[in-house]
Amino acid sequence: MSLAYLALGANLGDPVATLAAAFTALEQLPASTLLRRSSLYRTAPIGLAAQPDFINAAASLSTTLMPHDLLQALQAIEQAFGRRRDIHNGPRTLDLDLLLYDTQEITSPQLCVPHPRLHLRAFVLQPLAEIAPDLSIPGRGSLTAWLPAVANQRIARL
Ligand code: AMP
Repeated sequence: MSLAYLALGANLGDPVATLAAAFTALEQLPASTLLRRSSLYRTAPIGLAAQPDFINAAASLSTTLMPHDLLQALQAIEQAFGRRRDIHNGPRTLDLDLLLYDTQEITSPQLCVPHPRLHLRAFVLQPLAEIAPDLSIPGRGSLTAWLPAVANQRIARL
């Protein structure tokens, strides 16, 4: 069994309903058990500013899926929610990222773990700190030590 951490985000349609449905989809992943889910957070968009706020959350999963298989399963869920990929950092129905997989460091064309920008984003760090306050990010140290650096990013727990 491996322990994986995921980030969820949405900012089109009804993002709160989307994230609720996404958690249900995560509960149904094969060979996996959803362990913890964070609160939902309303966050400022990063990158393209002229788009709706995001709703973000984090989750932990115990799984026997290998990292690339887990990524594929997450992408299948994204597709099922009608994810649009046309604009980089633009609006999306549902975005699922694999943040951490045990203490593995993976760099492949399809998958980078730890997620390369996770320590720079309040919308990832804060939900993750809620469900795993003692977490270390392989190669980057304590998760909570990164929180002050993102204190200027707007985020509010719902
Ligand atoms: P984005 O549109 O920003 O969600 O990026 C999706 C792309 O990032 C996909 O092509 C994935 O193969 C790639 N990717 C690389 N590392 C990860 C990761 N840790 N979690 C999710 N997608 C990833």
